Amino acid sequence: MSRYKDEQCRICRREGQKLFLKGSRCYTDKCSVTRRNYAPGDHGQGRKKISEYGTQLREKQKTKAFYGVGEKQFRKYFEMASNKKGITGENLLQILESRLDNVVYRLGFGVSRAQARQLVNHGHFEVNGKKVDIPSYLVKAGDVIAVREIKKDNKTIKENIEINSARPIPEWLEKDAEKMQGKVLRLASREDVDIPVEEHLIVELYSK
Ligand code: SF4
Repeated sequence: MSRYKDEQCRICRREGQKLFLKGSRCYTDKCSVTRRNYAPGDHGQGRKKISEYGTQLREKQKTKAFYGVGEKQFRKYFEMASNKKGITGENLLQILESRLDNVVYRLGFGVSRAQARQLVNHGHFEVNGKKVDIPSYLVKAGDVIAVREIKKDNKTIKENIEINSARPIPEWLEKDAEKMQGKVLRLASREDVDIPVEEHLIVELYSK
């Protein structure tokens, strides 16, 4: 997936929804969906009627973009979700929410998932006292995610904590801003996921 600045806004405009891919800009009038709520490109203002397959495909693409996951990884998550007990679509969202980069973002240590991913990649975080620099690492109930001691003076993380101080923390997580850490109280349930997705469409797409 492209990480270019404007490319992220193009994804939102294509979906006709704010997907909050860029951090603080997403909450301002500068947001491209707020300013130009039509698909990008020369024919963006004349949206075509979309087929059933097209609707399912768009739902998958939107979810991939929201969590910043590539096709191969997304497919792997779908297979994991299918093999788990329960409703596949809900399992899929739970797995996506359990990614370490998402948890770092949800805890307010990053202003966007993309930035959280970069911070994890650069070795700023530990899980249960051990450094983890893999953004796709899946957390479990009871895990403690913390900024590593040697990274606690990191300017970006400190600023992010300040910027995100008013952003609500999901009920399945607990945050201690002073200690720069958070705990996974339980895994996310469907009700905890605020992404505007109809996950059954993704299941239908992959079940064809
Ligand atoms: Fe760009 Fe964020 Fe607005 Fe999406 S929500 S269009 S990423 S500013």
